[in-house]
Amino acid sequence: MRQPLVAGNWKMNGSVGSVRELLAGIKAGIGAIDKCEVAVCPPYIFIPQAQTELAGTPIPWGGQNLSTETSGAFTGEVAASMLLDFGCTYVIVGHSERRTLYGEDDALVAKKFAVARAAGLKPILCVGETLDEREKGVTEEVVARQLDAVIKLEGIKALADGVIAYEPVWAIGTGKTATPEQAQEVHAFIRGRIKTRDAGVAEKLRIQYGGSMKPDNAAELMAKPDIDGGLIGGASLKAKDFLGICKAANDSV
Ligand code: PEP
Repeated sequence: MRQPLVAGNWKMNGSVGSVRELLAGIKAGIGAIDKCEVAVCPPYIFIPQAQTELAGTPIPWGGQNLSTETSGAFTGEVAASMLLDFGCTYVIVGHSERRTLYGEDDALVAKKFAVARAAGLKPILCVGETLDEREKGVTEEVVARQLDAVIKLEGIKALADGVIAYEPVWAIGTGKTATPEQAQEVHAFIRGRIKTRDAGVAEKLRIQYGGSMKPDNAAELMAKPDIDGGLIGGASLKAKDFLGICKAANDSV
């Protein structure tokens, strides 16, 4: 049985005050969530605050990105060791916003996965197709390519150290969620592809769904056999909504 992981990707949102309020809200409700792992990924600058405010709770935190470099003249970048220094457990790699807005390609994302893993962080590898790609019928091809870039660089066993988030780009921040059937189809494809190389890794690997997940559509998605939690954008900014999704994941176990 895989333990679901619900992780909040706060993107570039928040202030000292709103982070305090959001984390207080999550902490107040986390007692009822005992079967699902709950994590938050704040913007870099709020990670020390998350570390302080989440100390002593079961809630891990992580970064939304990291550098492939270890230190030096890389203005604006943050190294894996720095995330670790501030207690991060997770780091998101290859989010579609990084891929489209900042030109991160499969090779760079694979390198980020490798650097995160080597440092002892758990990478959350985002994969997913655009609307155009779905309409062209190449969803599986795209997801396979994104996945294979990591497998090629790191080997199949490396996936056991991370998490995969299937995030159809057309569903991110749009209010358009993939149907549970559409999501399950791709999740099963991902697990199946990994299974052909290593059945043990495939069985244990958590594959989250991400894309306009909300408390009112989460239960149906979580009920699918290959959906192991969610990567949550917009709805992770309100404690009540985020906890509603966590509860759906918790009840799905
Ligand atoms: C995301 O950015 O990872 C995401 C899933 O966003 P949203 O939930 O807002 O669609």
